[in-house]
Amino acid sequence: MKDKLKKLVGLSQIDAELLELEELLLSLPQAILTFEAEQKNRVHEFENYKTILANLESEKRSKESDLTEKKDWIVKGEEKLKAIKTNKEYHALLKEISLAKKTINLLEEQITKLTDAIQNEQNRISESENKVEGEKNTTSTEVEKMKEQLKSIEEKRQAKSLEREQFLEGVEVTMIHHYNLIRQKINPALALAKNGFCCECNTKIPPQIFNDLHRLNSLISCPRCRRILYLELALD
Ligand SMILES: [Zn+2]
Repeated sequence: MKDKLKKLVGLSQIDAELLELEELLLSLPQAILTFEAEQKNRVHEFENYKTILANLESEKRSKESDLTEKKDWIVKGEEKLKAIKTNKEYHALLKEISLAKKTINLLEEQITKLTDAIQNEQNRISESENKVEGEKNTTSTEVEKMKEQLKSIEEKRQAKSLEREQFLEGVEVTMIHHYNLIRQKINPALALAKNGFCCECNTKIPPQIFNDLHRLNSLISCPRCRRILYLELALD
């Protein structure tokens, strides 16, 4: 029984290592995707800022063109004033010119605000560009590293699987069957018994069971978690 139990402990260790590798194989691709998505987001943000800047610049150009037009109109209007004969026409045009001057003030205010906004946007773009450029290399390196890691873990997993197959050849079929039945219900299927406790579920093991564990006449289960118990000492 001692050899049989030793084999199960060995198998359980291989399975624990396999599980760890499989969990890494599941989590790493997600980590790679997250890294790449973050990089894409930064680029997207940068492109957004550029669009905002282009819109602001276009708005400013349009206001500047309105301003030039208004100023030209006033020059012409003031010329016209000199030639007007009637009081009524004179005052009507004077009022129009005064309104146009107010519009000019307004346009100038708007252009100043747009100039500030453009400056802010340019600063934001330059910051964002530095960030994108700076993190592009880091991200690529990190992603490359994780892809390498993934490849290496996959190789380790294959090697471990092969090791498991070879290991199973030396284990009695009924023992494997028993082990698998437990493992389907609870993983790991084996639990170390130490200082009077089951190390997996922390249940106190009755002294009688401890004595049986020392004798190694049969496989003994933890009264609570039903895992196969073993004593390190008894297997030495
Ligand atoms: Zn237990």
